[in-house]
Amino acid sequence: MNMENTAMDKALVPKDYKSDIKPIWCPGCGDFAVLNAITKALAFLELPREQAAFITGIGCSSRIAAYTSLYGFHGVHGRALALAAGLKAARKDLTVLVAGGDGDGLSIGGNHFIHACRRNMDLTYVMMDNEVYGMTKGQASPTTGADWSKSKLTPQGSGIRPLRPASLALTAGATFIARGFTGDPNGLARILVEAIRHPGFAFVQALSPCPTFRPEQMEWKRMVRGFEQETTSDPMEAARRIHADDGMSIGVIYRSDYPALQPGSGGVGDPRATLDAIESEFRI
Ligand code: SF4
Repeated sequence: MNMENTAMDKALVPKDYKSDIKPIWCPGCGDFAVLNAITKALAFLELPREQAAFITGIGCSSRIAAYTSLYGFHGVHGRALALAAGLKAARKDLTVLVAGGDGDGLSIGGNHFIHACRRNMDLTYVMMDNEVYGMTKGQASPTTGADWSKSKLTPQGSGIRPLRPASLALTAGATFIARGFTGDPNGLARILVEAIRHPGFAFVQALSPCPTFRPEQMEWKRMVRGFEQETTSDPMEAARRIHADDGMSIGVIYRSDYPALQPGSGGVGDPRATLDAIESEFRI
């Protein structure tokens, strides 16, 4: 991260939140638009770069941390949320963004996802969902339709029903749940502004097409539309909307003011104090 001119960070524009590393995503990949939406949101919020960190897992989309000028950690497959929770516990002053794909977040990382939702720490998690494992050349992921038969591993379809990320997040206790689309980067940026401002665990499913392995997803731009209703704080109503929907409606679905877990004030102890106590035990 370039720490020069920190005093001028008030005037940062979206490109200032990008690094000089050129993304190696395929042409047309939706992940470019997620990067643009995130940098727009950060510029809108005038967030000083040294006050934010970006933690990611493994996969095409998880490369995104390196393409920003924030502090970042490109972590282990499926473990981004665990890393991010640890960072937030130790540095509650930081804005902690987390990102990864549907495979990273719902397969190997599925356990961390549900517990991050119920823990409700102040994190913003963007799941870039393209219903496929792109980096490993096109296998069915937890959000792939049961009948998708283009993978050599599942030539007759997986036969397994896909997870609904928003439904899972709601059931597990996330207090902010939204869905955006990379074909609407300004709308996605607006959602991200709300998500970052939300003082608990904010989950944003970003529909992000993979034109290389799921070229049919280029049709999503004709299928996506806004939710007809305003954001609800009623979990039963949110569940009804999520399950009545085909997964193509975008907007902020649910927001609750259930208090965020504050490290040091409740179930999670102050990690700094814990470390100090351990060190003092070993002091001669
Ligand atoms: Fe994007 Fe798919 Fe290419 Fe990965 S394989 S960079 S998800 S288009």
